Amino acid sequence: MTQKIKIKFYGAAGEVGRSAILIKTDRNILLDFGAKQINSDNKIEYPIMPEENVDAVILSHAHFDHSGAIPMLFSNGRKIPVYMTQGTKVQTEIILYDSICNIGNSEMTPEMLNSALEHFKVVSFGHVFRIGDTEITLYRAGHIPGSAFVDIRYKGERLIYTGDFNLNDTRLLHGADITPLTTGPKIDYLISESTYARRDHPDREQTEHEFIEAIKKGLERGRVLIPSFAIQRTAEVLRVIFEHLNFNSNNHNYNHHKKNHKNRTKVYVHGMGLTITQKYLKLDEVKRLDKLKYILKKIVEVHTSSTANRALREHSIIISTAGMMNGGPVLKYAVELNSKDTIILPGYCVEGTNGRKLMDEHIITLDGFDIPMPVKVLHFSFSAHADRSDLLRLYNAVAPRKIFIVHGDYTQEFTGELINMGFDAVAPKLGDEF
Ligand SMILES: [Zn+2]
Ligand SMILES: [Zn+2]
Repeated sequence: MTQKIKIKFYGAAGEVGRSAILIKTDRNILLDFGAKQINSDNKIEYPIMPEENVDAVILSHAHFDHSGAIPMLFSNGRKIPVYMTQGTKVQTEIILYDSICNIGNSEMTPEMLNSALEHFKVVSFGHVFRIGDTEITLYRAGHIPGSAFVDIRYKGERLIYTGDFNLNDTRLLHGADITPLTTGPKIDYLISESTYARRDHPDREQTEHEFIEAIKKGLERGRVLIPSFAIQRTAEVLRVIFEHLNFNSNNHNYNHHKKNHKNRTKVYVHGMGLTITQKYLKLDEVKRLDKLKYILKKIVEVHTSSTANRALREHSIIISTAGMMNGGPVLKYAVELNSKDTIILPGYCVEGTNGRKLMDEHIITLDGFDIPMPVKVLHFSFSAHADRSDLLRLYNAVAPRKIFIVHGDYTQEFTGELINMGFDAVAPKLGDEF
């Protein structure tokens, strides 16, 4: 039987970042077109521009490594529909705007961004839509709000692209429902992320417990700064904090001190994480919207420098963007902290970023200068990706004819292990076509 669906890898081959996969049926359909932030200079690496004419884009989710290069496709007035869920749309608009209009991004102009945004098309989860004779459906992937598995069917063949996914419940989202992937026609091709192919996550409950204990201890000593990713993580961290710390429902304060102590703690939220968390109130897929609404009433929003200064004068919890501390308001807080204060990193920090320098060397780099950071530094893993056990659980449940392993640092090694387990697996290289 001749192969009906062809696959070409323009990015995320043997690396995390700049996801870009071209699917060739009767149309050329691009799955994601992301960019990669390389280091603390915010230098950006782009995927290879496809040599084929792209007829449509399907965006699996809003993260920059999947969406960041989309405006490049609109460089010369081209008209390409970009399909995504509502949750993906609201977040992608914010992060692309920030990347191009605030941070400044030489490869892409505000005109290219506007042209791209005009071509965003929202599709619902579970709704079948067509591009030419190719049928496409998006299913909830449990990774961040809006994130989707992409199901592509053409002339009797079926392909699933996982994007990034999470099979387990978090405070914010239900884990991915894989029933649609284990029902219907057999899956010929599975293109899977493999970010955590080498390890399993620590026990979630235990992590939450230790995280909360760290906050309590930090507040006894001084201020607690939590640098947090804008997408998903700020909302998740807020949910965890409010789930465990006993906030008095009649005021905005959490009393962390021993009885009769007058100092009370507030939770200040500053940056893009606040904007995006507020957008989640309109997304049905987010768990317990009532709780999120309650939390957003209880926190102190930071919009001015006087509020930011107030946050620093108190024994407060400050949650601020960006998660890896490479920009955003978090840096303004960080430089004010002293040895009594604590920084708690709730996410992964890439090599070369301030977050990683803080963890490894107790410094951050600002305007080319290394600044010593005398604060206490702690790190917790609140990953929203499938871990090794989850990846294997998915492959066993779906039993695809062939698996393409992308979006990982050890794709070759992991593929070798999968082959030993009896799977037909391959780790494509940049530019490979199958
Ligand atoms: Zn992601
Ligand atoms: Zn990703």
